[in-house]
Amino acid sequence: MICLIVGDKAENGRRSDSRAAGSSKGPEQSSALIHFDDVSRTYVHGRVRALRGVSLRIEHEDYVAVTGPSGSGKSTLLYLASGMDRPDAGTVFFEGVSREKPAEWTRLRATRIGFVFQSFQLIGSLTAAENVELPMLGVIAGERKRRERAAELLERVGLGHRKLHRIGELSGGEAQRVAIARAMANSPSVILADEPTGNLDSRTASQVLDLLEDLHKREKVTLMMVTHDAENAGRAKRIIHIHDGEIVGEESRKEPA
Ligand code: ADP
Repeated sequence: MICLIVGDKAENGRRSDSRAAGSSKGPEQSSALIHFDDVSRTYVHGRVRALRGVSLRIEHEDYVAVTGPSGSGKSTLLYLASGMDRPDAGTVFFEGVSREKPAEWTRLRATRIGFVFQSFQLIGSLTAAENVELPMLGVIAGERKRRERAAELLERVGLGHRKLHRIGELSGGEAQRVAIARAMANSPSVILADEPTGNLDSRTASQVLDLLEDLHKREKVTLMMVTHDAENAGRAKRIIHIHDGEIVGEESRKEPA
């Protein structure tokens, strides 16, 4: 069942604010996993306004697609959610921690957030297992533990038999599955995926989405995915429409009983 909520920015902001204000807690203690509070991001000395006053809550165990035309601000939103980028105005919170606390965010980014890129961003000179082990350095003590965890994760994504292969020896779909295993390295609470199927044919794309959804269902990982593909977006429980740096509507889909 699809429920369509379309509103102007002010309405969207009010809804987000009232959900936040519904709690007696301030934003620092917000229960949302990710909370954008009136966030703006500009580039080129303020000439390009990539995001304009976005307020948004991503709850624990959400499955959210962010969709909109090219250049509308989708990736900017995701990079801000990950802490890889910072807003010019407003605040981004992750698990109640403001982006303005760099030391805490560095820890959160390493341990609570997994990121999947359209172009995989794997290191070609390393094996699949070595790529998955990389984010564990400094987080999981002991080489043997890291190796075992990487092997488990590669089994989990159906690539146990490819763990010693270099990335160049893998297909696009396999490379993206390695990237998903890498995103899961430190058991994150959320996977942020930027057009994760953009470089894949439709059958492989569907398999990659099946895998992400399986992690969401079985391991309770929150999914936030940027996609310009309406069919892919339609698989999410919430679809956030963004246009010209503003949230212009949201759809929510109830799981069939
Ligand atoms: P989308 O992901 O929806 O295609 P983006 O978030 O990548 O959109 O970009 C939003 C706007 O910000 C676009 O106009 C884009 O050209 C601009 N932009 C993004 N990153 C940069 C950057 N590093 N420098 C300058 N402009 C940028």
